[in-house]
Parts: sequence; C-alpha cells; structure tokens
Amino acid sequence: MRLSDIGFQEELFYAKILRDPNGCWEWRGRRKSPGKPRKNGGHRARYGQFGVYYTNRPGRNSKGVLDAHRLMWILMNGEVDDRLKVCHTCDNTACVRPDHLFLGTQSDNMQDCVEKGRHAMRSKTHCPNGHEYTEENTYLMLGRDGYRQRRCRECHRSRQRTYAKRKYQAKQSPLKQKKSVMQRLHLTGDNETRFLLKTERTAGGCWTWKTGLNANGYGQFAVKDERFPVGDKRRYKTRRVHIWSYENFVGPVPRGLIVRHLCHNRACVRPEHLEVGTHKENMQDAYDANRLFNQKKTHCQHGHEFTEENTIYDKPGPAGRPKRHCRTCKMARSRRILPWEAEYMFFLDSGLDRSI
Ligand SMILES: [Zn+2]
Ligand SMILES: [Zn+2]
Ligand SMILES: [Zn+2]
Ligand SMILES: [Zn+2]
Repeated sequence: MRLSDIGFQEELFYAKILRDPNGCWEWRGRRKSPGKPRKNGGHRARYGQFGVYYTNRPGRNSKGVLDAHRLMWILMNGEVDDRLKVCHTCDNTACVRPDHLFLGTQSDNMQDCVEKGRHAMRSKTHCPNGHEYTEENTYLMLGRDGYRQRRCRECHRSRQRTYAKRKYQAKQSPLKQKKSVMQRLHLTGDNETRFLLKTERTAGGCWTWKTGLNANGYGQFAVKDERFPVGDKRRYKTRRVHIWSYENFVGPVPRGLIVRHLCHNRACVRPEHLEVGTHKENMQDAYDANRLFNQKKTHCQHGHEFTEENTIYDKPGPAGRPKRHCRTCKMARSRRILPWEAEYMFFLDSGLDRSI
C-alpha cells in the first residue's frame, strides 16, 4: 500500500500521540478491542486504530481503518508491503514511534513474542494437575506449530510409571512365557481360539486383553485372513480387538457408529460389555463417569484449585455440559487496569492538556 492510495487528517493523527519521556509515543485514540478470550486464554493485540479513506476505491468502499503504527510506517516510508507486518521493538502495542517499528512476517512476530515470554501460553504458571512450571519441573518439546512447548516433568513421570506398569504386567502374563505355544497357534489356530487364549477373566466380569495394547490402551490383534497364503502380506491385519470382537460375536457395526465400552475399561473385549452408539453418546457417558480431559483438571493454569468456592460455572456449551472458570483469576482479570489506562485516568483527573 502506498501513501498516495490513502487520505487522512494528518493533524488529527498527530494530535492523538502522546510523546512519553521514557521513549515510546503512546497512541491516545481508539484501540482495537481485545475481543473474546481465545482458547489459550490470550487476546487480540490492542493496536491503535485510525480512520482513513482510500482514494482509488469508489463510494462506501472508500472508508477504512488502519492500525495506527502501520499508518505511521506508511507516512515515514511512503509505502508498505501488504504481505508483511509492522512489528514493535519495544513490545508496546500502543506505540507508534517510527524508530520503534520494523517490518517482519507474521511468523517472525509470533516467534519474537514467544521468545520474550509474552505469548498467552507462556502466562500459564501451572500444569492442569497443579504442578508449577519451575526450572526443574519443565522440559521443552518441539510442538506441531514449530515452537518449543513446555511440559510438566511430574506428570511425565507419572505417565511413564503407568506405561512401565502396563508393560511389566504384560510380561508377567502366562501367555507371554509360553511363547512357543503361541507362535505355533499363530500359524495353526483360528482367530476365535487365539482370541479366547489371549483374554483373561478379571474382576467386574471383564475379559481383559493381555498381550498387546496400543498407545491409547485399546487391545490390538493380528486378525488372520485364511484366503491369503502363508507369507502373503495381506494374511494378517492389525485391528483393535473390541471392534473385531463386536463384529465377530454380535454383528456388523453400522456406518457412522462406533463400538463403545459399557464398563469404561478400554482393555476389555467381552462382547456383552460392548455396544454400538454415536460419538456424542460416548462423550456424554465419559462425562458422567468423570473421565474427560478438562473434567480431570484439578487446578487452573495459574495453580488455583477448583474447589466449590473457587469455581464459577458458565452456561452450558453446545453439548449441554457446563464449563468451569477459576474465580480467583476471573476477579484478578476484572480488576486489572492497563498501565496506559491508569496514566490516562490521571490525565483526565489533572485537567491538564498533555495531548500534544
Ligand atoms: Zn515504543
Ligand atoms: Zn503436572
Ligand atoms: Zn468389561
Ligand atoms: Zn486461577
């Protein structure tokens, strides 16, 4: 965009800038609204805004709004590349001082924000189970978005313990010890015989799958297809056992439905404990049994416990389940006054004209 493409009241623009003796030029005019909080708790950047009109657009389309710092960049340099963002070296979204501005891509800007610890994710001080993100308790992992993400060591250790226990139990199983028998059976036995040998009757009437569980805790099974000869790749197909069990002993699974457990035990493969249903029904059941991820959180992201007094129940979402908020954090947010707002209130009280 070029300076010749836009028109605006230059005097009014300069009148809205307060030259702070500490360095930044604060924008006193309208600011972009923070918007609804995002999923990670962050808000839209509160850049200054200023009305302009486009000289090359007709009628109603000619009116527009530009970010104040972007307009300042155009004013100083004559033009700006539409693909690039105007960023701040001073991390003050209200600043429009020309030598505090530089050009960068969106991803440069976000990386800068994360490195300086200003990203909303970085404002979290505690993990969902209430462990603090201290130096010793944090490790970094490369996330899918390309940034290093913080993980809680305490929770990691507890997960590792669960996996180790599961592995140990599988090793202790009598089936694993009689490996040669199983190997022979793998070649000669039919699917049903192998299925029954690999299950164990446990408390609550469940048939627990003892040999292989996948990462999510469901049993896995190499289902044999007799139509293909020995050595053919297609002879064995890995399937989740509870689905195979339902199809084999009860009937086909209708399109769009899932096989779900009535006993909340993912390793269970007993046909009587299985049922077909919708994903929605399954989620509601998990909610009733207190098994959902957000439900299991005991602390907010700043380490306050979700006790009865500290919890605000929001109106239910589309699934009809109420949301929880931390009362302490919510109160703190409503009291918070931004530094520039505090200064502005002082300026209104003092009755002095400091706008130029
Ligand atoms: Zn600045
Ligand atoms: Zn933790
Ligand atoms: Zn069961
Ligand atoms: Zn809190």
